[in-house]
Amino acid sequence: MQHLVPGSVIGILGGGQLGRMLAMAAAQLGYRSHVFCPDAKFPADQVTGLVTRAEYGDQAALRSFAGSVDVVTYEFENIPVETVEFLSTNVPVYPSAKVLEISQDRLHEKDFVNQLGIATADYAGVSSLEEARVALEKLGCPAVLKTRRLGYDGKGQVMIRTPEELEAAWQKLNSDQLILEGFVSFDKEISVIAARGRDGEIRCFTPAENRHKNHILDTSIAPARIDEALHKEAVAIGSRMIEALNYVGVMAVELFVSTDAPRLRVNEIAPRVHNSGHWTLEACATSQFEQHIRAICGLPLGGVELYGQAVMTNLIGEDIRDYEQLMQDPAANVHHYGKIEARPGRKMGHVTRLYDFSEKLDV
Ligand code: AMP
Repeated sequence: MQHLVPGSVIGILGGGQLGRMLAMAAAQLGYRSHVFCPDAKFPADQVTGLVTRAEYGDQAALRSFAGSVDVVTYEFENIPVETVEFLSTNVPVYPSAKVLEISQDRLHEKDFVNQLGIATADYAGVSSLEEARVALEKLGCPAVLKTRRLGYDGKGQVMIRTPEELEAAWQKLNSDQLILEGFVSFDKEISVIAARGRDGEIRCFTPAENRHKNHILDTSIAPARIDEALHKEAVAIGSRMIEALNYVGVMAVELFVSTDAPRLRVNEIAPRVHNSGHWTLEACATSQFEQHIRAICGLPLGGVELYGQAVMTNLIGEDIRDYEQLMQDPAANVHHYGKIEARPGRKMGHVTRLYDFSEKLDV
């Protein structure tokens, strides 16, 4: 199969830290990157010479962007599907518009996962308060009411502990495109970062264990501390999903390790590199960013074996003030995303440490 030769240009939609780290991985392999982003200033801007600042609906800008790149990818899933469809008529785009569409809607996403015979939380799409009442009676409390679209980091969702709380939750979300999910009682949250090449080869990184603070990812620990059978099953789920989607690139699958059967339930998929895979930068021969670039450029996938246990901690908002102190620790691999303003909840950087497999982790 033809792969893109070094010197080719990779178009990246979105210019955040994920776009920045993709551009850095592309540069390592001899590719140039052209970032398309509506913002005035963005983290990927600092590491790539080719930039288009325009809205995602700007067809003239998209046409000219498509003409200047050899392949297009994206670093976040809230790009309009129409943008990806428009670009796809001129240049290969990975992952496809179809994948993007499924991942943008929690109801379509859960339907897709269940059609594959893979478990999720119990759920129902609801478009009126009356429908939500009926669904809540079936699913029971506690439950979680969520917007079908555009939710992230705990935004766009409300926990319902008693039936009396439903109406207020409905008013708060203020939409008729909602999904009600049964609450999954879980031991852990894990994720699998899976990759599929243009030739159909699939490789998955080891599942990581994820902890959140204020609904934002705080720490990822790899490998996840779950038994061997669950490890294998999580990887099998990642592989089945990426295959079924005929996907090209890196995809993250977030799962609950439920306290009762079925033990593994998919929470959501992200059609992109993912925060819970940043530890691959130091812990594996190939990072998730390089793997994604390899996949979309038609190169063979790289090795995913783990060199040791890895603990990645996000530096959120003011945490970035620890930067100088972290630099004193020779074991800390510190990443700063080049953002100047440390707003609360903003992902400013991360730090990864590796440990021997024999070491008992204190996290
Ligand atoms: P989400 O935006 O769907 O990823 O949800 C954010 C976080 O809320 C998840 O990482 C879970 O910790 C929690 N959560 C979401 N949905 C459920 C559910 N159905 N059962 C239990 N916890 C949930």
